[in-house]
Amino acid sequence: ARSVLALTGLRKRFGATLALDGVTLSVGPGEVLAITGPSGAGKTTLCRVVAGLETPDEGSVRYGSEPMDDVAPGRRRVAFMFESYALYPHLSVRDNALSPLRAPGGGIPRERHRAIVDETLGLLEIAHLADRLPGALSGGQKQRAALARALVQQPRALLLDEPISHLDAKLRHKLRGAIRQRLMTRESPSIWSTPDGLEALSVGDRVAVIDRGRIEQIGAPEDIWLRP
Ligand code: ADP
Ligand code: ADP
Repeated sequence: ARSVLALTGLRKRFGATLALDGVTLSVGPGEVLAITGPSGAGKTTLCRVVAGLETPDEGSVRYGSEPMDDVAPGRRRVAFMFESYALYPHLSVRDNALSPLRAPGGGIPRERHRAIVDETLGLLEIAHLADRLPGALSGGQKQRAALARALVQQPRALLLDEPISHLDAKLRHKLRGAIRQRLMTRESPSIWSTPDGLEALSVGDRVAVIDRGRIEQIGAPEDIWLRP
């Protein structure tokens, strides 16, 4: 999985709202692009369009030389961590994280699954919750379980939509570094959305600032100016 994820001229309207107003950007292999902007700026819509869960009115999504526009979400091999988590309620935290690895075409040998999952639960400090059902977790614990399920995969692109927003400040600060380290070892492009500008500067190889569906700035963290 070593290709550029390229978004070209994406436009998406919901009624009177232009959620995406001509978004063009690319994310290289192994790169983390952090997208930051206020609530309602279009971050989730951008992720959903890349994942194929939303059809843009205009524009296209390519992975390498391959257009993804007519590829169904389940066939894009994009890992998407949902803001709503979408954990399987009847599966333990460990089995939730194992589920994408066990799916056909997962690509990782079965005997490695358990070790990958347990190591990732450890990274996110939820190893002790591996046997719990999602219903018995706090909001922040659920968020980390959903994050684990996204991080164990070897997708063509990884989309993390506000992945640590429900953790307390201390854990957020600690884990953003650990997760970033993990993402740096991968070959696939990653998009990490956050309303927190400083989080974006700290996790992104490059940072995009989005407002009202438009990319206002994109560049290296040191070249980004955040509104005070
Ligand atoms: P963010 O993730 O940055 O908070 P969103 O992508 O969720 O932003 O939303 C962008 C804009 O599109 C907002 O104005 C939001 O209200 C609107 N929007 C998003 N999804 C829908 C939808 N399904 N129907 C109507 N409006 C929507
Ligand atoms: P750390 O992750 O090391 O604790 P911070 O999260 O406090 O650092 O800040 C991340 C980076 O963002 C720092 O390099 C800081 O200098 C820079 N920074 C802080 N405020 C702004 C701003 N308004 N515009 C651009 N960069 C900023």
